[in-house]
Amino acid sequence: MQHQCFVSILSASVALGFLASRPDAFAQNRARTELQFPDLPGYVTLKCDLHMHTVFSDGAVWPTVRVEEAWRDGLDAIAITDHVEYQPNHADVSTNYGRSHEIARVAAEPLGIIVIRAAEITRGEPPGHLNALFLKTIDPLNQTNDEAAVKAAADQGAFIFWNHPGWKQPERKSVWYAAQGEFYDQGWLKGLEVVNGGDYDPIAHQWCVDKKLAMLANSDVHNPIGMIYDSSEEGHRPVTLVFATERSEEAIKEALFARRSVLYAGRQLIGEEQFLKPLFDGALHVKNPDVRIKGKSRALVQVVNRTPISFELERLALPDDVNAPRKITLHAGRTSLIELTGKGSAAAGKRTLVLPFQVMNLKTAPDKGLAVELKVNAEFLP
Ligand code: ZN
Repeated sequence: MQHQCFVSILSASVALGFLASRPDAFAQNRARTELQFPDLPGYVTLKCDLHMHTVFSDGAVWPTVRVEEAWRDGLDAIAITDHVEYQPNHADVSTNYGRSHEIARVAAEPLGIIVIRAAEITRGEPPGHLNALFLKTIDPLNQTNDEAAVKAAADQGAFIFWNHPGWKQPERKSVWYAAQGEFYDQGWLKGLEVVNGGDYDPIAHQWCVDKKLAMLANSDVHNPIGMIYDSSEEGHRPVTLVFATERSEEAIKEALFARRSVLYAGRQLIGEEQFLKPLFDGALHVKNPDVRIKGKSRALVQVVNRTPISFELERLALPDDVNAPRKITLHAGRTSLIELTGKGSAAAGKRTLVLPFQVMNLKTAPDKGLAVELKVNAEFLP
């Protein structure tokens, strides 16, 4: 009995030594970074990357790897968009169009990741590249004629968006060609990639505002995701936040057609005011909303920002009774202090101070930050 015990202690220490020599092999590489964005009233906020490649077209990874990458990056849903017309690995890997989706879907089930059947229609410029999501079958998209390929996707009720519109254009400035006009007029083209990888496209952003198209931010990743992105504030992969009625593929589809999205790219959130506003309000929690100020004394307001993005605020105006900083950073995942100081001229009594700010890195248009108000209940002491 004693002898057996000695042996098991010995083997345990040998095993621990083995673990210590490979500290990252078992632990940190298989952990998920949760992206803490609030749900909006009536909707759940789903984190999506709807453009990526595998070895089944010109990507460098197997479909199962895309699934675990997505899980680790805190995503809810992905679309694997292997090229229909460009299959450089065809001598080594099947050209069966649905195969990358089938493989990914099996791997995604135990991780709770939604994998959308999709494809990238890959033509010359124009019309360039378009992604079709929620396809029933990909085969009919293999057409010689550009319009026939897009129509084959639209006929299946697919959500179709134009990828990286500025790609291959002079100075990367996007041009709205007749072909895009045609797809748009037919009601086929429903969205634009405003962010592709590390590139933000202000022209595409403005088109989305003007033409009522859905906005998307996608990685378009070909290599293993860790070769390009990390989990830092600047370095994270681009994510499309989709506001869906529930956490399902069908609800994501409905939300995209209804244009309910915000883009999380680098240190920016891009989208319509109707979504950015509740996202900002829901992200914050004021720990001490009631403060007391006597004469020129100061009050410190503690504001918690639960999201992974720091908010950069610039003051628009000052209330009569207090001074407030001209610029404030509400740090990602932390509690920030806002210092208010009395002007010394306030009449005694309680009132709500409304502090108007512009959030410079929450963009409702290429050059327009989101206007917000911070509210503090102040009691001015005599
Ligand atoms: Zn692509």
